[in-house]
Amino acid sequence: MIKKLCISLLVVGVLIGGLAWLLKNEADGVNDGSPDGELLNVVTTTTMVTDMVKYIGGERVHVHGLMGAGVDPHSYQVTFKDTAALKKANLVFYSGHHLEGKMQDVLEKRKESKGGVFAVTDAVDDASLLKPQEEFEKYYDPHIWGNPSTWTNCVDEVVDALSEADPEGKDEYVGRGEQYRKQLTDLHEWIMSRVAEIPAGQRVLVTSHDAFFYFGKAYGFEVRGLQGISTNSESGLKDRADLVAFIKQRGIKMIFPESSVNKKGIEAVAEEAGVKVSEHELFSDAMGEPGDTVTLHGETYDKGTYVGMMKHNVNTIVDGLK
Ligand SMILES: [Zn+2]
Repeated sequence: MIKKLCISLLVVGVLIGGLAWLLKNEADGVNDGSPDGELLNVVTTTTMVTDMVKYIGGERVHVHGLMGAGVDPHSYQVTFKDTAALKKANLVFYSGHHLEGKMQDVLEKRKESKGGVFAVTDAVDDASLLKPQEEFEKYYDPHIWGNPSTWTNCVDEVVDALSEADPEGKDEYVGRGEQYRKQLTDLHEWIMSRVAEIPAGQRVLVTSHDAFFYFGKAYGFEVRGLQGISTNSESGLKDRADLVAFIKQRGIKMIFPESSVNKKGIEAVAEEAGVKVSEHELFSDAMGEPGDTVTLHGETYDKGTYVGMMKHNVNTIVDGLK
C-alpha cells in the first residue's frame, strides 16, 4: 500500500515537473526575433545603419534590421511585425533627416512613449549637411553615408546610446567605434586614389535619383539624378528631356542604375541619349546582400557591408567613366 502511494506520488511529481518544463520552454520558444537574456535588443532601419550598429554592438547586442538589400527607405512602410519589434526593442537607431519618410510618425510615436530612439545623423553638424538643389520640402539631403568622412560623425551617436543602455559594455563600444571610424577613414583615402584615375572633366555621375550629392561633393563629381532627392516623386517628361540633353552635351560615356530604384527610367534615358547603362547597379539607399562577395582589381569585398558596397560603387563608377 505504502509502496503504491509512493509510486503514485512519484508519477504525479514527474508529471508536474514535466508540465512545468513544457510551459517554460513554450514561453522561451516564442519566436519574435528578440534575443534571450542579457543581450541588448536593438532595432535599426536601413542597411547602412544596421552595419554600423552591428559592428559597434558586437556580441553584446542583438540587431534586427527592418530594411534589407534593395529596399527603398523613402517609400518603406512598417509591417505589423515591425511595429511589434519596435515596441519590444531596448533601443532604435534610424538614419534620419526624413530619409525614412513614411516611417517618421511611427518612430516619433515610439520615441514619445518609450524613448530610446536615435537618428544617427543628428550627430552631423548643419555645416556638413547639404541643402537639396530642388526643394525636398524643408529638409536637408539625407544621403549622408555617400561621404564616409561625414558618416563617421554618426559613430558617436551609436557608441553613446549603447554605452548608456549597457554601461558594462562601454569600453567595448568605444573600442569598436574607433575601429569602425578607422575603416571609414581608410576607405576615404582609397576612394580619393581611385577617383584620381578619372580625368576631372569626365567626373559626371548620372543615376536614377539624387542620392550622390555628398559623394559628388567629397570626390569632385558633378551629379545628376533622374528623380529628385526622394524616390516618392516620379520624374516628369521635362526632367527626362533635360537629362538627355545634358548627357549629350557633356559627352558622358556611361550612366548608372541603382539597386533600390526601378531601372526602367534610367534605361529609357540611356536609349534616348544613346549612352551605355552600367551593367552593375550602384548601391544608393541600400547595400547588397550580406555575403555577396566580389573580387575586383585584386581585392575581395562583401557588398553586404558598408565598406564593401562603397568600394563596389567606386570601382563601378571609375571603370565606367575613366
Ligand atoms: Zn534616396
